[in-house]
Amino acid sequence: MTDRYSLLILPGDGIGPEVMAEVVKVIDWFQAHRGMAFDVSHDLVGGAAYDAHGAPLSDATMARAQAVDAVLLGAVGGPKYDALDFSLKPERGLLRLRKEMDLFANLRPAQCFEALADFSSLKREIVAGLDLLIVRELTSGIYFGEPRGIHSDDNNPDNEGGRVGINTQRYTSGEIRRVARSAFELARKRGNRVCSMEKANVMESGILWREEVTWVHQNEYPDVELSHMYADNGAMQLVRNPRQFDVIVTDNLFGDILSDAAAMLTGSLGMLPSASLGAPMANGRPKALYEPVHGSAPDIAGKALANPIACILSFAMALRYSFGELAAADALEAAVERVLSDGVRTADLMGPEGGHPVSTAEMGDKIIAALEA
Ligand code: NAD
Repeated sequence: MTDRYSLLILPGDGIGPEVMAEVVKVIDWFQAHRGMAFDVSHDLVGGAAYDAHGAPLSDATMARAQAVDAVLLGAVGGPKYDALDFSLKPERGLLRLRKEMDLFANLRPAQCFEALADFSSLKREIVAGLDLLIVRELTSGIYFGEPRGIHSDDNNPDNEGGRVGINTQRYTSGEIRRVARSAFELARKRGNRVCSMEKANVMESGILWREEVTWVHQNEYPDVELSHMYADNGAMQLVRNPRQFDVIVTDNLFGDILSDAAAMLTGSLGMLPSASLGAPMANGRPKALYEPVHGSAPDIAGKALANPIACILSFAMALRYSFGELAAADALEAAVERVLSDGVRTADLMGPEGGHPVSTAEMGDKIIAALEA
């Protein structure tokens, strides 16, 4: 019997619904032509949910997200919602999903398609063929650690201004081990190499990080190649020779910075997918949310200019990491590669030489045509 995969689609705001419409075409194609069976439901998040329910994510939507195999999200936000109270802002809907689903591993691939190598800020010969994956710890570390805050420092006469700002880097061994396991599991599905990055030279939390990653490696994943690197050197290596990496695992703060740097190696924001994974559910699949890295792009919303590839590649990640459909994921990524090498471009991918950009829907159709071929 065919496995059935349940998917909750949350298109969100701005270009979210436009790019998600192309993903729905791709899902329909896999159902019609590859015998896959998806139970797809649609719901609201962000400003769209606020308009309908007065909250950026309703309790009913949250419960639905907890019950499915994977959530696919477009983007949230827009100028219409800028004046809302912090707790009602569209982004709170996304943060609630990440928090309540306990999505502790954020996956950001940086893959350089041959046809777009000239879009990178680095030389073609450094980035062509690049394919690395950054696994960032997402629910702990310095963004969440206590104590935190801005306090008066009145008793310190040497402190001009009289205030002190505090954040705390704090990791438990359990938090490190679970994200390390995610990285080793992912490496087994790719190039089988993990590089762990921290600052064990100057931070105790970095020493613990290195010890715990090593423990998980020795006890559970000795077949995967593990190396360690200080995160500052990692930043340098990412721009010097990024192709040396397969999977990089790092903490919340370093991962935030390193994944943005890695993103720029590949060119346009409209190309970048992401996934956030949590603990395995009863059926063995991890809790999962897939979304493009870009936002709701209000400047181009409603103009058929949005590039749907980041969202389509996010679905390819769902095929790979939630459903284990590796051949389907490879086929979809190859279809994107094919369309790009045929010179098909949305407006964001036009070089200085110009040309005729295709619309959001035309890009989706071309990718489907490449799947057919
Ligand atoms: P953005 O990513 O929406 O847009 C940045 C620039 O990139 C814009 O010029 C936009 O036109 C372009 N761009 C983005 N995605 C594109 C695509 N698929 N195709 C072609 N061009 C694309 O970031 P922003 O302008 O800083 O933020 C806009 C809104 O999105 C804000 O409300 C922000 O809070 C929100 N936002 C949401 C998310 C999310 O939902 N995960 C992420 C970032 C920003």
